[in-house]
Amino acid sequence: MIKGKLIVFSAPSGSGKTTIVRHLLGIEKLNLEFSISATSREARGEEVDGKDYYFLSLKEFKNKIKSEEFLEWEEVYRDNFYGTLKSELERIWAQGKHVIFDIDVVGGIDIKRIYPERTLSVFIKPPSIEELKIRLKKRSTESEDKINMRIAKASIELATAPQFDFIIENDNLEVALKEAEELAHNFLKKRL
Ligand code: 5GP
Repeated sequence: MIKGKLIVFSAPSGSGKTTIVRHLLGIEKLNLEFSISATSREARGEEVDGKDYYFLSLKEFKNKIKSEEFLEWEEVYRDNFYGTLKSELERIWAQGKHVIFDIDVVGGIDIKRIYPERTLSVFIKPPSIEELKIRLKKRSTESEDKINMRIAKASIELATAPQFDFIIENDNLEVALKEAEELAHNFLKKRL
């Protein structure tokens, strides 16, 4: 199978990375396909199994860890496991496409380590922790406790930004989208 490239967007949740990833997916000439992660957390709101995530039970998730079906996996929050199945890359490369990821910072760094040449890793930086709090509250899909858990994690995640190939500051969404588009375009046109 001919392998494509990998573009990773990582950031604390609420930084706007999902919006950026969706934007890039809409640009046909980039030829990108979304890596659907597996997770043991429950579906939120309008999320659809097999589209947003592969929703697995904790037991199913742990069995797949045992049988080494994951490229990378992580317990992002307590009992909430997330991971990239090896079969996802095969599915996307078999279509002749490149893979785009919306994953947490540890997963992003792992993928860059596994495929150093083939991967572009981008960190999306929120304007501030205060702004992040406001965005997560606005999204209001989760309890206060869960939001606080995400905020606490965000401070730790911010410290990993220098380990990425590029950092995009998401103060202004339009500008951030343009920057992401340019980075993706330049990386994909380069020969390996
Ligand atoms: P959420 O619950 O908000 O959908 O995701 C929580 C965190 O898990 C986010 O930072 C998200 O990017 C991350 N995540 C999603 N999929 C994966 C994955 O496959 N691997 C890893 N390591 N993290 C993931």
